[in-house]
Parts: sequence; structure tokens; C-alpha cells
Amino acid sequence: MAKILDGKAMSAAIKDEIKAEIERESLRVGLAVILVGADPASQIYVNWKKKDCEECGIKSFEHVLPEETTTEELLALIDTLNANPEINGILVQQPLPKQINVTTVNERINALKDVDAFRADTVGSITIGNFTLASCTPAGVMEMLRRGNIPVAGKECVVVGRSNIVGKPMAMMLLHEHGTVTICHSRTANLAEVCRRADILVAAIGKANFITADYVKKGAVIIDVGMNRGEGNKVCGDVDFASVEPLAGWITPVPGGVGPMTRAMLMKNTLTARKLQSL
Ligand code: NDP
Repeated sequence: MAKILDGKAMSAAIKDEIKAEIERESLRVGLAVILVGADPASQIYVNWKKKDCEECGIKSFEHVLPEETTTEELLALIDTLNANPEINGILVQQPLPKQINVTTVNERINALKDVDAFRADTVGSITIGNFTLASCTPAGVMEMLRRGNIPVAGKECVVVGRSNIVGKPMAMMLLHEHGTVTICHSRTANLAEVCRRADILVAAIGKANFITADYVKKGAVIIDVGMNRGEGNKVCGDVDFASVEPLAGWITPVPGGVGPMTRAMLMKNTLTARKLQSL
């Protein structure tokens, strides 16, 4: 039976540490969250982030814009927030409505306030291993491995997924910790065979219960980034927990695994941004 990497408990500890630091240093820290439209899932995520801010002693500023907002209108709001010294981090909840140019929006956020780490230069700095603001999900995974005392150096790491916000920065962070990293995607040949090489397998695919026991080596560490709706509209990951858990050495549950760690890293980035802005 696998040991569970409990993201809920770990993220609670991280938020306590952030709160303690903010209090100790008497810092005023502010995060602006922008929601465009009324997507129910996005509304839930924004509410969670507001709650995380409260728990950490970070002031949250919520901006809700109508579905028909234009790129120019959103950019104007970002400009105002960039210039506001009370705001240390800016997050634009995604997905955005179709008429909005996501790249232009991401790039408009001041680099020192890019707490989601979506800007091209932020992702680039992660690639060269010289970064302060880290992509939240991969940073959350690395923190889980650290807190679980799971070594990465010399291990075979397989990341399934190559998105700019999860798969690629995840692979880079494992590489910086001296893992031997393979990145897989939808065109990878013999995917199950490649995954079975992994001592650490990260699934960031977006397909419910895709990774089954066939993809897993006995004793492997299984990190499930996926957040999908499975049978009966229940939240589930990319990993078929029931078949994989008996084989794995460690596994992250969904919900309660990588998700809460991603949010904790957003809070950590916001505190880091606050400190960067007073340098
Ligand atoms: P993307 O859709 O941007 O990327 C998915 C990746 O999976 C792509 O690289 C794609 O390959 C690859 N893929 C798709 N199908 C297959 C397949 N059959 N075999 C192998 N690879 C495949 O998603 P994201 O990276 O943004 O997110 C991935 C998952 O993680 C989603 O479920 C998302 O909801 C979740 N997520 C969870 C977070 C959390 O906090 N827990 C945070 C962010 C995301 P190709 O490039 O070839 O198309």
C-alpha cells in the first residue's frame, strides 16, 4: 500500500509559515485577483484563493469583470494594478473568454507581480534555474517531494504533459534537482513503457484516470496533477488511484494533493513578490 502525500496538511503548514513570517516582519501584502465572466469553476477557484489570503494575512483585492470585457479593458485594469503599491501580486483567473488575447494579458503584468509565473521571461528564468517566482503547480510538487523526504537526484523522472505552466517547468525543476528527466506528450511512442521506467511519475495530462497500473513501476512515486470530472461528475485526477495505489510507493490523492499545494505556492509567491518589491 502506498504512502499518501497529503497536500492538504502540507499546504496548511506552509500557510501557517507564511502567516508567521508576515506577522514577524510586520509586512503588508496584497494580491489582486481578476475574474472575467461567471464561469462556475473559476468562481470557486477565486473564492478558495480569497480564503487562502485570509488564512495567510494577505489582503485580497477582487475584480470581477463582465464576460464581454475586451483585451484593452483588461489591460487598462492591469496597468492600474501594476502602478498600485498596495498590490504585490496580480492573478488573472484562466480560462479567459475567447475574445481576450491571453498572451498579451499575461505579458502585461509587471514581472515583479507575476505571481502565477505565466510571463515568458518568468518561465525562461525557471528554465535557466535562476528564478524567484516559480510556476505554482511544479513548485508545489517540488515542495511535496521535499517535505516527504523523497530524493530526486539520480532518479528517473517522467513527466507526462508539456504545457508551459505545468509540464515544462515541472521537468526543469526536477532537472535542477538532478533528476534524469523524460518529458512525454500525446505523440510519445510506447507511453506506458516509458512511464514504467519512472521512479517519480508526474501526470499532467487532463484525462480522467488515464494512468493505470500498466504505466507504473512497483514502489514509484506517483504525482497526480490532473483535475478532471469523472464518473458522476466527481473530481478525479489523471491517475486511476484504485489500480495504481497498491503498486506505488507514494501517491498524491485528488482532491487533497497537488491542488492545495498549488494554492499555497501562490501565497508563497505573493510574499516573495512583496519582498522583491521592497529591495
Ligand atoms: P494542457 O492541456 O495544456 O496540457 C496537457 C498535456 O497532456 C499536453 O502536453 C498533451 O500533449 C498531453 N497529453 C494529452 N493527451 C495525452 C495522451 N493521450 N498521452 C500523453 N500525453 C497527452 O493541460 P495543463 O498542463 O494546463 O494541465 C494538465 C492537467 O492538470 C489538467 O487536468 C488541469 O486541470 C490540471 N491542473 C491542475 C492544477 C492543480 O493545481 N492541481 C493546476 C494546473 C493544471 P500535447 O502537447 O502533445 O498535446
